[in-house]
Amino acid sequence: MRILFNGLGDDRFNRPLQLITNLFYEDSEVSNSQLENPDLIVDVQYEYSNPVISTYAKLTDVKSGIEYEGSYSKEFPPFDNDKELFKKIKNAVSHVYVTVLQDFTGVIQPWGMLTGIRPTKLLHKKIREGVSPGFAHKQLKEDYLITDEKIELMQQIVDRQLTMVPDLYQLQEEVSIYIGIPFCPTKCAYCTFPAYAINGRQGSVHSFLGGLHYEMREMGRWLKENNIKITTVYFGGGTPTSISAEEMDMLYEEMYQSFPAVENIREITVEAGRPDTITPEKLEVLKKWNIDRISINPQSYIQETLKAIGRHHTVEETIDKFHLARNMGMNNINMDLIIGLPGEGIEEFNYTLSETKKLMPESLTVHTLSFKRASEMTRNKKRYKVAGREEVIDMMNNASSWTKENGYVPYYLYRMKNILGNLENVGYSLPGQESIYNIMIMEEMQTIIGLGCGAASKFIDPVTGKITQFANPKDPKSYNDHFVEYTNKKIDILNNLFGVSKGV
Ligand code: SF4
Repeated sequence: MRILFNGLGDDRFNRPLQLITNLFYEDSEVSNSQLENPDLIVDVQYEYSNPVISTYAKLTDVKSGIEYEGSYSKEFPPFDNDKELFKKIKNAVSHVYVTVLQDFTGVIQPWGMLTGIRPTKLLHKKIREGVSPGFAHKQLKEDYLITDEKIELMQQIVDRQLTMVPDLYQLQEEVSIYIGIPFCPTKCAYCTFPAYAINGRQGSVHSFLGGLHYEMREMGRWLKENNIKITTVYFGGGTPTSISAEEMDMLYEEMYQSFPAVENIREITVEAGRPDTITPEKLEVLKKWNIDRISINPQSYIQETLKAIGRHHTVEETIDKFHLARNMGMNNINMDLIIGLPGEGIEEFNYTLSETKKLMPESLTVHTLSFKRASEMTRNKKRYKVAGREEVIDMMNNASSWTKENGYVPYYLYRMKNILGNLENVGYSLPGQESIYNIMIMEEMQTIIGLGCGAASKFIDPVTGKITQFANPKDPKSYNDHFVEYTNKKIDILNNLFGVSKGV
């Protein structure tokens, strides 16, 4: 779909309008200056007459000549600067553009004009500002065109988060820690995480763990010196249980020795996503160090699907390892499912749900397949046949009603670009078993320090809320060459962040 905009001279409109167009069309090109043979022409007008911004759009379908018109205006308090004014104009233009596109296509976007990935942050912000729930919902609907159904989901999630973490808005002086271990038994076709097949890489694993121990020690020292508490720790990757039981044991020992007051950390999670990495010895190690939350990820209970996506383990193995972990006393197990895997439709997904019912993990994360740029699946898209938008929506709805019937509640959600059906990923849990780390990372209420390969740190200024991102190298070789430098850089950022806020 080729779309030409008239009336928008400013290039800063291009990206937001492209993102909105992507919600409706997989392949599209937008331009505000020149475009040969456009399919649609959108004439836009906007005006700021203090205190009101008004916009008007007329979309013309070039082939049929049919026109669709829309308008939108909103009153604003005075603006501090031009940047702020432009942001509001951009939102108003996006608003009217979504309206005419919805009329033209007949497709209603459940998240309206939102293209950002964390919708619940908007609702949290309004609550913190003291806006009543009813008024906040009205604003979300009017300002962003979000449907009632999604607003209700947002409210449910925000309520659950505040029940699970009542001091969520006061945790900005604490931090959480993410530890990335970049190895897996094999690489899955949809994966873009830093994950390297572990076989034949023993040397690289050894050097990597040396760097990671160093990072943990140095960061732990800084946290102790500055009296900063840790809220949660999350071992991800990769698959952190790909390393040996002895290596895991030494790593957790390091955590207890280096990090401050580990016994007071609210939650420690270790992803054991690939069932083929789980052994009784490794589960013993987890128990020895009081690690209370693990993740065992089936993704699907259809064997052909697992084969097609390069997960070299069997469905039986997932089930067996789940029972093994349960029998050994693991009482907070998360499982991840993916909607829309190649070759899967509603029937296959329903089967996966029925198998999940036999296990009843404490939490269940339902992802929608996303075509991330760097994955094998995206590079060879034609080889993978996936469900269409309508079927994906049906599967998502089934997940929502199945979880409800089985006592799960939604407790976090995030959206991604290029996600099938423009839907969302939702984390469900049995009440009281929500992952605190997931809430912290989604709502961006506190700093998350990333250690290890590919680990992304997100530094959040405790006073202003400003976010600074910083990522460790993704491949083990660069990590091994530079971990000292990266540790020092993070400590510098932390010194600035916490030093300023504490008036040091
Ligand atoms: S198990 Fe997870 S991290 Fe490892 S390759 Fe598969 S998707 Fe990637």
